[in-house]
Amino acid sequence: MIIQENIPLAAYTTFKIGGPARFFCVALNERDLLEAVKFAKGKELPIFILGGGSNILISDDGFSGLVIKVELKGIIYRELDHGAVAVSASAGEIWDDLVGETVSRGLYGLENLSAIPGTVGASPVQNIGAYGVEVSNSIESIKVLDTEQMKIVELSKSDSRFAYRDSVLKCEKGRYIVIGVNFELNKRGKLNTDYKDIREYFSRRNVSEPNISEVRQAIIEIRQNKLPDWRKWGTAGSYFKNPVITADKFKELKNKYPKLPGFPESDGQVKLSLGWILDKVCRAGGMKYGKAQVYEKQALVLVTMPGATATDVVGLSRELIKLVKDKAGIEIEGEVEWVC
Ligand code: NAP
Repeated sequence: MIIQENIPLAAYTTFKIGGPARFFCVALNERDLLEAVKFAKGKELPIFILGGGSNILISDDGFSGLVIKVELKGIIYRELDHGAVAVSASAGEIWDDLVGETVSRGLYGLENLSAIPGTVGASPVQNIGAYGVEVSNSIESIKVLDTEQMKIVELSKSDSRFAYRDSVLKCEKGRYIVIGVNFELNKRGKLNTDYKDIREYFSRRNVSEPNISEVRQAIIEIRQNKLPDWRKWGTAGSYFKNPVITADKFKELKNKYPKLPGFPESDGQVKLSLGWILDKVCRAGGMKYGKAQVYEKQALVLVTMPGATATDVVGLSRELIKLVKDKAGIEIEGEVEWVC
């Protein structure tokens, strides 16, 4: 394994922004990973694990430690005796390729997570979720390198402490590096088509009982229509998390904005659609800061034009945070990870 110096990172991110990594290497196997971590420890350098680069914003000054690009590959399928299939996927596999492959094998569990950019290794970190399904629903365990103990271990589902867009891998940032994820998928399952966008897609086409491939195709098309073209814009998808507020606060906002959508949580709080607030309450669609812009078709998404800097994106996000606070009285936080 070669450790390189001063490698520009912009091309490794979907925002297409960011300065250089002081040190950079590609890990193709577990041995490379151990060697890279030992190198960083020896020099007391911070480590940043790079997957698909689709949920990060790298500072214009770059990263002063070691960036490890995880490219461990391989997917293994194993039949279990109760109509389920164990799927072990290496961290460097492309997430949507795995989803496509499992759907074409008729395995249920990941179909609603179609068309999400990034790698398999990144999927449990923020417990990716879409259209009523979270990746943790299908995860049995995660194989990780524990960089504190310098040991490869398996985290069970309960060790992983999954929550909404959260896990132990995110809470104890820097401790674990994902090597692979073990899923359990089913040969027979129930499709979840409850979300409005999916229901409307099938009702427009008069399809009452879609199959698993049709659900995947629907989600691919819905996302393509909502999200910016990666070839034209730099972007990391949704920039902020959807806020969860108290029922009283929701009532207050609903009086002011009767069409405000809200989704009750099990603890009595209400989850809001921040895209709706940014669009309808803040009128932020198309708002610009330098060469960063709020995407017109989906205000939760920030996009960048060629020549944009991380400073532009941060400037725009600060303006939006202030706008939401002033207009709706809600504190919002970023979903995209800031790397500096
Ligand atoms: P959307 O469907 O317009 O939904 C906006 C918000 O409303 C989300 O917080 C969503 O909750 C909630 N919501 C909508 N319908 C709901 C229902 N029937 N029951 C409960 N909650 C409901 O969002 P979008 O921006 O177009 O994104 C589509 C899906 O992709 C959403 O599920 C979104 O969360 C997901 N997504 C995930 C990530 C990620 O994992 N990092 C990034 C971008 C988008 P949920 O968030 O619980 O679905």
